[in-house]
Amino acid sequence: MANRVATVRKIGSLRKRVASWRAEGDGVALIPTMGSLHEGHQSLVRFAQGKADRVIVSIFVNPTQFGPNEDFETYPRTEASDRKALSGVGADLIFAPSVAEMYADDFSTQVNVSGLTDCLCGASRPHHFAGVATVVAKLLLQALPDIAIFGEKDYQQLLVIKRMVRDLDIPVRIVGAPTVRESDGLALSSRNVYLTAGQRQTAPLLQRTLVDAATDIAAGRAVSGALKASRARLEAGGFRIDYLEARRISDLAPMTRSEGGPARVFGAAFLGKTRLIDNAPVPRAAKGRRPAS
Ligand code: AMP
Repeated sequence: MANRVATVRKIGSLRKRVASWRAEGDGVALIPTMGSLHEGHQSLVRFAQGKADRVIVSIFVNPTQFGPNEDFETYPRTEASDRKALSGVGADLIFAPSVAEMYADDFSTQVNVSGLTDCLCGASRPHHFAGVATVVAKLLLQALPDIAIFGEKDYQQLLVIKRMVRDLDIPVRIVGAPTVRESDGLALSSRNVYLTAGQRQTAPLLQRTLVDAATDIAAGRAVSGALKASRARLEAGGFRIDYLEARRISDLAPMTRSEGGPARVFGAAFLGKTRLIDNAPVPRAAKGRRPAS
């Protein structure tokens, strides 16, 4: 039986715990989450255990990253089963602060990462990334880990956090970890519990469509044509598309040709009220093939 992982709720207690590990020479990893943990989050813990001696998982449903009509109130909160899952995987500490611990009544500072946040999820959720960047900056400064792990499922978030840490000289290494999927390809997400049985059957079409678009683009199909066909396929499958775009990962500039630096196809789409996001890397084009325009 795995040891029950301890939970601290105060920044001071977190700092004490980290200081005692540091005194022993241990390296520390932080994994920020909003709880409602699934195998994807557990895989981040295992990934972190390969890179640090101690792994902290923060659980905080951050109000400032939700829009007024989004699911902050109903976002699943499952701390008891989260603790069980994290004990099972051998995490060292849960940091689960209250909203009051994180935000003073007159809290007035915001971290804005411009440019990278103008497109994709940033365009459809205007205040989302300011909320994310601000809370992650706070968590990093509270825990002062050596590394922090973020899932590639939320690829734009990973890029935004990397840019913020570089720009603000926060002494932490940000590392991306692969997306964990159901056997039919659907990316695990805490929001999948919102899907009806019928929607759950449709949901893997998002990933299949993104992968096929990425494959077609790498094979030389025009980016615009590949994306148009993909949109039609998703709509025919019952999705309402928020965005479907191919962008370079260096700066999230739109990909117009299949040549150039690494790129991904990014998609966000609704099934009923549930918004799913995913992304797929554009495979590197075979040498000698002429890219399409
Ligand atoms: P959240 O689910 O929003 O609380 O995300 C917490 C962290 O887990 C983020 O870094 C996510 O990118 C990551 N994450 C969420 N789903 C997955 C998944 N299916 N595979 C790997 N990482 C994930």
